Amino acid sequence: LESLVYNAIKEALAMAKGHSDAKWTRRVWELKDAMVKGNFEVHYQPLVNLESGSLIGYEALARGPVNSYFASPGILFPFAEKAGLLYQLERIIREKALKGCHNLDQDRLLFLNISPSVVKDPLFAKGYTRGLMALYGLSPYNVVFEITERTAIQDFTGFRKILQHYRDQGFRVAVDDAGAGYSSLQAIAELQPDFIKIDMSLIRDIDASPVKQALLETFVTFGEKIGAKIVAEGIETEKELRLLAQMGVHIGQGYYLGRPSPEKREPSPEVTQLLSAMKSRGRGEIIHSLTVG
Ligand code: C2E
Ligand code: MG
Ligand code: MG
Ligand code: MG
Repeated sequence: LESLVYNAIKEALAMAKGHSDAKWTRRVWELKDAMVKGNFEVHYQPLVNLESGSLIGYEALARGPVNSYFASPGILFPFAEKAGLLYQLERIIREKALKGCHNLDQDRLLFLNISPSVVKDPLFAKGYTRGLMALYGLSPYNVVFEITERTAIQDFTGFRKILQHYRDQGFRVAVDDAGAGYSSLQAIAELQPDFIKIDMSLIRDIDASPVKQALLETFVTFGEKIGAKIVAEGIETEKELRLLAQMGVHIGQGYYLGRPSPEKREPSPEVTQLLSAMKSRGRGEIIHSLTVG
């Protein structure tokens, strides 16, 4: 009897495993199918100079097939990595992102997210990305590679060398999702980034949080010392925008400044007007109107 029960349990477990394997296999095929068909989109989200209101450039954000399991990049990339399809997927997305920027103004920047395993591969940056850029009339000076703070923490010394390699070729580099609690300022400095993109958890409701304000002020001073521009991500309200601009944060990104979209849009006239009004009125008055209004 014991062995019967044992066998039944074993069988049930095998079936359960078989079931999830089947599901897994189906998803892998779904992803492969999308890759063969090139069924992906790249959306572009504007980054805005908070001092002048002018457009800095765009972050390219990948989108899987609409309404599919893979629609969101937060699911798409981790799945592709597990399935061993990440490298190929990054190539497809990179090609789309660069192709969509063939008409980008010379002084605009294109921010590209890049996975840790791919960023480490020199062939990807040197051969593949450069080849595509030549094809679409972009120079390395237009391209900023984003690597997340969380990724970088795995090996700061290693990544410092890799990122230096990219910089030597004219690319620029950004630390993404910084300040989310994974690394120290010392560690970020070691990467010598051109941009530090502050995680949106530090931006959300910053107008109500003296601690977040202090952190942002620290980042601005720190950025100026190490020659990195500070980017505030996830700006959703006018209040957040006003406060961040007034604090001297260099660059902003977020739904309030422009949502990711297939077309490369300019910031809205309201935003440009607000920022240029702040510039001409001077910052002291803005603080006053922020606290009073
Ligand atoms: P990320 O690089 O930190 O990108 C910012 C994310 O915040 C994007 O989510 C963007 O749509 C979203 N966002 C922008 N403004 C706001 C806002 O005001 N409020 C809120 N709530 N969200 C905002 P998305 O597009 O879902 O991308 C998620 C992550 O997936 C990205 O985070 C990035 O790490 C990764 N990712 C996207 N495209 C690629 C890619 O081509 N390659 C790689 N390796 N990763 C990618
Ligand atoms: Mg990013
Ligand atoms: Mg980010
Ligand atoms: Mg993120």
